Formats: sequence, C-alpha cells, structure tokens
Amino acid sequence: MSTTEQTYIMIKPDGVQRGLVGEIIARFEKRGFKLAALKMETPSKELLEKHYGDLADKPFFPKLVKYMLSGPVICMVWEGLDAVKTGRVMLGATNPLASNPGTIRGDYALQVGMNVCHGSDSVENAKKEIELWFNNDVKQYKLDAAQWIYEA
Ligand code: GDP
Ligand code: MG
Repeated sequence: MSTTEQTYIMIKPDGVQRGLVGEIIARFEKRGFKLAALKMETPSKELLEKHYGDLADKPFFPKLVKYMLSGPVICMVWEGLDAVKTGRVMLGATNPLASNPGTIRGDYALQVGMNVCHGSDSVENAKKEIELWFNNDVKQYKLDAAQWIYEA
C-alpha cells in the first residue's frame, strides 16, 4: 500500500448527463485523494473495446460498448493511499441494487447497465488503463494538504 498509488476513475455517459460530475469529483477530493489527471473525452469504439477487452465474450458486451458510446465521459486519475481498492469501495458494487448507500452507485443508480462510473479493479489494471486513456500523461505535484491527510 502506497500513498502514490493511482487509479483510473471514469464518469460514464449517464453520470455526465445526470449532472453528477461535480459530486463524484468532490467525493474523491474530500476523501483526501489527489487529482493527477482529468479530461472529457468522446472515446472511439476501438478504445472502449480495448478498455473492456476482458469482457469481450460476455453477452452484454455489445450493449456495454453502445452505452459507453452514448455520450462524452470524464476520465480521471486519482492518487493516494490504497487508491484502487478504496476507489472501488467508493463506487460500490457493479450492480447498483447491491451497492450500499453512501457509495456512488448506491446513491445514484439502479441498474448495472447505467451504473454511472468506472474504477480500476487492480493496481495492474489501473496502470494499463492510465496508459490507455492518458498515455501516462499524469501531472506530478505536491498536494499541500497531504500533511493534514497523512500521518507524519
Ligand atoms: P465493474 O468493474 O464494477 O465496472 O464491473 P465489470 O468490470 O464486471 O463490468 C464492466 C461494466 O459492464 C459494468 O460497470 C457495467 O456497466 C457493465 N455490466 C456488467 N455486467 C453487466 C450485465 O450483466 N448487464 C449489463 N447490461 N451490463 C453489465
Ligand atoms: Mg471492471
């Protein structure tokens, strides 16, 4: 576990359309994570098929790609202690009906095919996704608040 661990978090088209961008960013900021990269993108089918390559055999794959192509997404890299696992906890379960209240999906979604956000599921996949979406163009800077977030 490192304080410089990075995770790839993406607000899906439904999250953008429903005006949840600020809310989701605020949750990661307030938790103490450092924003390392941020952009809005209209991804190509090819990019999405790569991003979700592990799911290519699933029956819902075409529906998933169509959903992700339905509007712009917000791409982010968040950095901090245990960022990958904690990011997943903040997102909630894949199926929003199984997500706890207090999580993003548990507060703002009902169905798996409209579940508002993506988060890397392992450090290894986070690295791959940050390369895929940002070509590793991630900012490096000192977060001054870190002294009030991390123990000395
Ligand atoms: P995640 O890591 O929690 O996002 O879940 P997965 O990696 O297993 O799946 C990727 C995304 O595919 C999910 O976030 C959903 O948007 C979508 N998805 C997963 N399972 C289903 C399903 O059974 N039906 C539909 N329509 N979409 C699904
Ligand atoms: Mg996943």
